[in-house]
Amino acid sequence: MSDEFENPVYYDDDADVSVIQEQTVAVLGYGSQGHAHALNLHESGVEVIVGLREDSSSRSAAEAEGLRVETPKQAASEADLVSVLVPDTVQPAVYAEIEPELDPGDTLQFAHGFNIHYGQIEPNEDVNVTMVAPKSPGHLVRRNYENDEGTPGLLAVYQDASGDAHDIGLSYAKAIGCARAGVVETTFREETETDLFGEQVVLCGGVTSLVKQGYETLVDAGYSREMAYFECLNELKLIVDLMYEGGLSEMWDSVSDTAEYGGLTRGDRVVDEHARENMEQILEEVQDGTFARQWITENQAGRPSYKQLRNAEKNHDIEAVGEDLRALFAWGENEERDEKEKTKTSADD
Ligand code: NAD
Ligand code: MG
Repeated sequence: MSDEFENPVYYDDDADVSVIQEQTVAVLGYGSQGHAHALNLHESGVEVIVGLREDSSSRSAAEAEGLRVETPKQAASEADLVSVLVPDTVQPAVYAEIEPELDPGDTLQFAHGFNIHYGQIEPNEDVNVTMVAPKSPGHLVRRNYENDEGTPGLLAVYQDASGDAHDIGLSYAKAIGCARAGVVETTFREETETDLFGEQVVLCGGVTSLVKQGYETLVDAGYSREMAYFECLNELKLIVDLMYEGGLSEMWDSVSDTAEYGGLTRGDRVVDEHARENMEQILEEVQDGTFARQWITENQAGRPSYKQLRNAEKNHDIEAVGEDLRALFAWGENEERDEKEKTKTSADD
């Protein structure tokens, strides 16, 4: 265990893979995370049953890899640990199906805390509730494992009925390859709230709004759509890659002094104290459950405003100019995109 971080971090030497090897694991869902967990567990010597609906198009893919496939209910009835890797919005319905199959001391395992944290799934107190959440999309979890590399992950125990839920979770994390890279201890609350905040404020919401507002400002001032696209969207990748590799310092070191001085003097004027207040407000809505209630209601209503917003985003001018310009860069990148499309379709059933 490492003590250089605020939260405990575990590695392969801290975990005992035999704990999970002695259990039967049901992996419900065979999408991004599901296929990676199922295959990595299987190759780590764990008995795995994949749980899928009778009509799921993923059945043949799982069977082709030599995995046994049953219905979620049947898989759960045979399993000691049930890993719930269907989409978060579908989990409460799937849980209702498998709940009668959970025996005292069994483990209910998640890769995201939303449904537990916001009370959409309320497991009996005689079962363990754990989370092992790789910090990468499933195809990387799988590819890293195959290359004898690891994927950093999170571990949390919400409920410890058997007295060894932590060992079970850590063992599961080792079997899917996360402990090779490092497993950071957290809680369901911390994982869920930071995940929602990050995607809303910075990663998905914040960054797309920044891109669109920058683009519109240039186009409205009479600059060409092409130049606006390049400067406000295309070059973002170069900047993000630098930050990913070496933090803010590497990014600042790599851009010109003019860019660095301009950025350092202007950045906080764009994302100013008003934006900061909005961030705090959004965090509050995550913490007090306002966002969760809104999203659950939206789903129950058939996603009317979600569909509308999604449509409007697709029809933004930057998407049209982007499609034409990306075609200029497309040679050599087509293969990678085809791969991504393939994973997406197989996860879409
Ligand atoms: P996904 O959408 O890729 O796959 C879900 C799979 O569930 C589908 O492939 C299908 O096999 C099955 N499924 C779909 N609808 C179903 C239904 N109505 N009934 C039964 N089965 C159904 O999902 P994912 O992205 O792998 O997410 C699974 C969990 O992992 C979620 O809790 C998510 O938050 C978490 N997670 C995802 C990522 C990621 O990068 N994708 C990263 C960390 C954690
Ligand atoms: Mg996330």
